[in-house]
Amino acid sequence: MQGLMQDQPLLISSLLEHAVRVHPRAEIVSRLCEGTLHRSSYGAVARRAKRLANALQALGVEMGARVGTLAWNTHRHMELYFAVSGKGAVLNTINPRLFPEQIEYIVQHAQDQVLFFDLSFAPLVAALAPRLACVRALVCMTDRAHMPQGLPPGTLCYEELLEGASEHYDWPQFDERSASALCYTSGTTGNPKGVLYSHRSTYLHAMGLCLAGTAAISQRDSCLVVVPLFHVNAWGMPYAGALSGAKLVLPGPALDGASIYALLRDERVTMALGVPTVWLGLLNHVEGEARPARQELCLERLLCGGSAIPPVMFTRCSKTLGATLMQAWGMTEMSPLGTVCSLLQSHDNASDEEKLRVQARQGRPVCGVELALKDEDGKRLPHDGVTAGRLMVRGPWILSAYYGSDAPVLDEEGFFDTGDIANIDADGYLQITDRAKDVIKSGGEWISSIDVENAVLGHPAIAAAAVIGVAHEKWQERPLLVVVAREGCSPTRDEVLGYLASRVAKWWLPDDVVFVSELPYSANGKVQKMKLRELFKQYKKA
Ligand code: ADP
Repeated sequence: MQGLMQDQPLLISSLLEHAVRVHPRAEIVSRLCEGTLHRSSYGAVARRAKRLANALQALGVEMGARVGTLAWNTHRHMELYFAVSGKGAVLNTINPRLFPEQIEYIVQHAQDQVLFFDLSFAPLVAALAPRLACVRALVCMTDRAHMPQGLPPGTLCYEELLEGASEHYDWPQFDERSASALCYTSGTTGNPKGVLYSHRSTYLHAMGLCLAGTAAISQRDSCLVVVPLFHVNAWGMPYAGALSGAKLVLPGPALDGASIYALLRDERVTMALGVPTVWLGLLNHVEGEARPARQELCLERLLCGGSAIPPVMFTRCSKTLGATLMQAWGMTEMSPLGTVCSLLQSHDNASDEEKLRVQARQGRPVCGVELALKDEDGKRLPHDGVTAGRLMVRGPWILSAYYGSDAPVLDEEGFFDTGDIANIDADGYLQITDRAKDVIKSGGEWISSIDVENAVLGHPAIAAAAVIGVAHEKWQERPLLVVVAREGCSPTRDEVLGYLASRVAKWWLPDDVVFVSELPYSANGKVQKMKLRELFKQYKKA
């Protein structure tokens, strides 16, 4: 027997319509490429999204067609989020930090018909345009006065496009399983792979993000969205914002400590989202200043993910910023939210040290995400907090196949292999110990590079660290520690190893330490261990 409830599709346009009905005046504040601070609202974004939908129609963008963006976090990019998906087309946000050849590959693979870009990327687009055969129209996201020289002839101006279009538009109704957005993973090897989200998956994911036990985003929040709109839909924040009525603060291209701090203070930000390097940059900026940051801010929580968080950061955040650092884990293939870490009531009486040990884990799964640990043969492993295995996931906002590929990506139980190695404890807390491709196997046993890196980052003279496996005659592989010293510090090898000796198991202790001026990072700010392994392939202890 079927239920007798109304069958309304879960569409992205319905999130925006809700925002218009319930909290049209909630603010969306953006730092623009033109340098100014711009104040908008959900009501204004919705009106302009309707104009944009009409303009896209006039450009011939039909249901299912792809529209690319190379853009920072601003209200204009938000308008594209709702206009493109709302009209049934597919928004392909592209990471502008990728190599130009990768950007070209993505635009061609997605077959983007229109490409929108911010002022900062005008030279990049001008150089790439002749090679982007599928793109019928280029749109520079600025007003006429700021249109740069040297753009391909016929490039349209965003503000003019909107001015020339009607504000009357009825969002079409269609199957909630229709594609809404397309993001490409950066792909350390091979070409980037496309993850194609649906309206349904996006809607459910946004609800998951707002749950009280996860990021708990509500109408009382002012959210600083540092995570880029070009990276996994800024973790779903445009949708969660429309759903909840939270004020959104979008930092545009200015991501340095001073600019972020000014927005936190001036926009009364209560929660902020970004990768660990952003918060390290902010901490380094404010800790150097005489003024007490926590007295100027009303920041309550920081949602942080993308790579492991060194435990020292939790104390630095609460001391300096007065905010609780919440770790999250996920990936592009998961929309991205998988787990969020917060303490249970049973931790209330735990020591600070024990609380820190829990917070340093990646957290517990959001309802909708099912985790499993499996061995190499696909057999289930226990969730005992010790046994490490391949981390598998399934749920309604996790991919079932890559865009344009027939290759199966799910096992016989419907689980997707995340490529992470992890353990899960009896309370459901996940701990990532490594990427499968970065695992160090010494004498047949795994060494967790993340644990060793987290431990060494507690040393005050060390700014960044990576542990990689190098070939060893007797043990097959041994860990090598590659570190960047903090400015003005010069720790020695013995000092670093001495510090680690009491913090990790004896056989996990790296055989040697090499000092470098910087680590290689991917377009998403992750340490590229493959590059380091290549660099130190022939490494022999002096
Ligand atoms: P990319 O485009 O670099 O693949 P993703 O965001 O999809 O970007 O990367 C997902 C991977 O990032 C995860 O599989 C995991 O290895 C790592 N990751 C994400 N969050 C965390 C975290 N909190 N702790 C440790 N690793 C994390």
